[in-house]
Amino acid sequence: MAFPIEGDGLLDNLFYYVWLKAARDEGLRGFFLPDTVVYKYQQPRSWYFTSIDGTIKKKCKDKLTTQCIEDAFLRKKSESGIVACYIFMSASNNRVIEFFGPEELKHFLNYRKKAQEGILQKWIDPKGEKNSIIQMVWSPKICLFEYRENLKDLYDQRYDMYERAVTFEGEEFHSSSIALRGNELKKHLKNIVELLVMHISEVTSNKLSINRMVLHFKQDKYDNLWLLRATSIRCSEHQNSPLDLNSVIKLPETVNGHKFSTNPQCPMALQKTVLCRNCEEAMEADRMCEISYRMIITAQDGIPPLLKKIHSHMTVDEFEKFRHNPLFLNKQTLVCDQCFLIFTNQWQTSGALPRPQSVPIFGTQPLDPKKTNRRREVTLLSRPENQYMERTVKSSKSTRAFRPNSAAGGEIQLAFTSFRSEIPRIPALNLPRPRTEQQLRGQVSLARMLGTVDITSFLEERYSNKRRQL
Ligand SMILES: [Zn+2]
Repeated sequence: MAFPIEGDGLLDNLFYYVWLKAARDEGLRGFFLPDTVVYKYQQPRSWYFTSIDGTIKKKCKDKLTTQCIEDAFLRKKSESGIVACYIFMSASNNRVIEFFGPEELKHFLNYRKKAQEGILQKWIDPKGEKNSIIQMVWSPKICLFEYRENLKDLYDQRYDMYERAVTFEGEEFHSSSIALRGNELKKHLKNIVELLVMHISEVTSNKLSINRMVLHFKQDKYDNLWLLRATSIRCSEHQNSPLDLNSVIKLPETVNGHKFSTNPQCPMALQKTVLCRNCEEAMEADRMCEISYRMIITAQDGIPPLLKKIHSHMTVDEFEKFRHNPLFLNKQTLVCDQCFLIFTNQWQTSGALPRPQSVPIFGTQPLDPKKTNRRREVTLLSRPENQYMERTVKSSKSTRAFRPNSAAGGEIQLAFTSFRSEIPRIPALNLPRPRTEQQLRGQVSLARMLGTVDITSFLEERYSNKRRQL
């Protein structure tokens, strides 16, 4: 029996036919398959891979365990920090791709609810320093190629993983389309795809004859070609249905793909890892702003709902008492930029918190001899027992002898010591403000408290709940 292969979905049956052997077939296809685990009904169903001799193989059923998958996918990790990608069909029937680092992969395998249909694929490093994919539109008569290369250095981990990885999946400004140079490569690709079409036709006794398809290949640093996926396939019996050339693979809702970093020193966060406590929307960490309780209280009457959320046990009486307490008013929390603008709407200033002016350390201020002399005299006069007073007053009522550039170094030192002990400088209260990272950590622990291991999965659940409600 022939499994269906046509359509614009995950098209995971293609991997099955790539692997399936005809008579006297060794399984060499002219291209490689990365380790590809196909999930069906939330369970790993089959695992295809390329063996050392270049043949396409399938793992036996007892290897389809979480531990085996984790071990294989974390072996020989890419220096890009990306270990796998996961493509699945979302509830709204969109093809969605996610990229995993080692931690995300472990979390996915051990804790996450899998989609009904999905493909987990091991990450393959591209030929150059930037991620690239070759899209091939194949038909018996004509072949079209598009080579799309990401703009960011794949190995520069300062950038968000998604910003470095996306090609056809992301916004166009994250990658550039380059003409595929070299007729040899085109000829080779055309050749191997024709052989693959013939092979599929052979193993299905001519039941499946592919007429047109869109394939994604990746070329690695050893110039090997890896078949990543097919995005659209049409068979000859349905000649009239057009090939979906723009069949997009979307990014998950937990990633904001519309951002672009212009400077590696301040890279953008694309993954929404934080919940705004006020609007409860998922946000990227760099969209969170610190806001003082003072501003929140000014913007709203009564106990502001946000403060009620943070201090759930606070009573009205307690709030009335605290609302005049400067320590309470100066406490800060994180809200998203949108909420920040709402809270600070009524303020004359930008809403940015004034930072206390730090007083320079003693001795680094510009010299002001007049002021110093005046103070010194006052000090000395106020201390009649001071042994220096007599001498200072006597010696022409000037304090020149105490000047730092005078020869009487020892006296200066003493005088300064007494002056310092007399009028102690009040140190600037430069109390450290909780750093953004600390606050973010607090947010992650909030997700943990709610019973989820990492916030992305928590957000996912929220999204799916929201969809269910709609
Ligand atoms: Zn918000």
